[in-house]
Amino acid sequence: MKKEDKCSFCGRPRDGVGLLIAGVSGFICDSCARQAKEIVDEQFKSESAKSLGKLTLKKPKAIKEYLDQYVIGQDDAKKYLSVAVYNHYKRLMQKDSEDDVEIEKSNIILVGETGTGKTLLARTIAKLLEVPFTIVDATVLTEAGYVGEDIESILTRLLQVADYNVEAAERGIVFIDEIDKIARKGDNPSITRDVSGEGVQQGLLKLLEGSVVNVPPQGGRKHPDQKMIPVNTKNILFICGGAFDGIKRKIANRLNSRVVGYNSDKDRDQIDFDNLLQYVAPQDLKSFGLIPEIIGRLPILTHLDPLDRKALRRILTEPKNSLIKQYVKMFEMDGIALTIEEDVLEFIVDKAVEFKVGARGLRSICETILMDKMYEAPSEKSKKLSITLEYAKECMSHVSAAKLKQA
Ligand code: ADP
Repeated sequence: MKKEDKCSFCGRPRDGVGLLIAGVSGFICDSCARQAKEIVDEQFKSESAKSLGKLTLKKPKAIKEYLDQYVIGQDDAKKYLSVAVYNHYKRLMQKDSEDDVEIEKSNIILVGETGTGKTLLARTIAKLLEVPFTIVDATVLTEAGYVGEDIESILTRLLQVADYNVEAAERGIVFIDEIDKIARKGDNPSITRDVSGEGVQQGLLKLLEGSVVNVPPQGGRKHPDQKMIPVNTKNILFICGGAFDGIKRKIANRLNSRVVGYNSDKDRDQIDFDNLLQYVAPQDLKSFGLIPEIIGRLPILTHLDPLDRKALRRILTEPKNSLIKQYVKMFEMDGIALTIEEDVLEFIVDKAVEFKVGARGLRSICETILMDKMYEAPSEKSKKLSITLEYAKECMSHVSAAKLKQA
């Protein structure tokens, strides 16, 4: 490099810059290279925002088939979710001025006992999506001025996953878990505002309805000086999920009062009392304590079925990343071939039913049975490991339901 060489961009000589990089027919200095990088980054960022306009439209059947690989049963919820996501995409693709039939968004509410796959459904669908997606927990929400998180913080997470690209976040999907926890206690509107209740619901309503909300980019209230980012929620799809403990009684009451009278016995016989959630209707959510305005903004109401013995057995081995497949993989990494006999799998399910720990408990039962083997096997010579019923029973002989529930 000669002394008279200079940056081909800013013209500064070699000794006037930190570093001069030579190209085929010119030079670039360090500060011009940095600037060039910034320009390139900026350009790609806006291109990725634009590319959201070219979403690949997966048909509802394809979305459901994908969910089927990971989530057992729950056909109704899967169908509703698939259609809702498909329609959400269609809405995003609709050009504003194209025609005067504006497709309105249809937020969803999933009602299902805890541990039946609501969050799993949300997480699984997120893997498939090309729009920003986040899961937030409604239990931490409180009205402004109370200890806890402001409603707007729901959108902070969405902004974060969208890399603070507001345009992308405004087309995203938010899963609000445990929506039942912000229900009003009791059916009567209270005179005093409750910390986690109607006030929070009113706040949430603003988001669901579609409005411009000022979002704290760092979330929480720890950074009082942060500059708020305005986000329009008009095109954000909200999926809410909740266990709604006790709602079955309200559904049963409603069904019973409906069948009183002429023909009542026949009607009553047709009700499947083991799975009352399948009859859930907007008025049940109202008697549970959700305000009618919120219910109106969640027009798609669907349920998850309780998991029976058969479903639990399938959950153990069928999903693409089922528990048993995960353990087999883990041992395989130590060069050990793990086999678990069929009667052991049945035994695991029996214990989950007996202890009433549901699908979540399956993992703790498997851990209990395999713990010693996971500890010892990697240091042993044997490359084969078979778990027998006798061994599984021995491992489970000192375990209580309380301990499993704790796990
Ligand atoms: P919820 O959100 O309804 O309380 P989760 O989705 O968190 O329940 O379920 C807890 C765990 O149980 C999941 O991580 C998954 O391992 C298992 N599970 C629950 N339901 C299903 C299902 N229908 N299919 C497969 N696995 C399931």
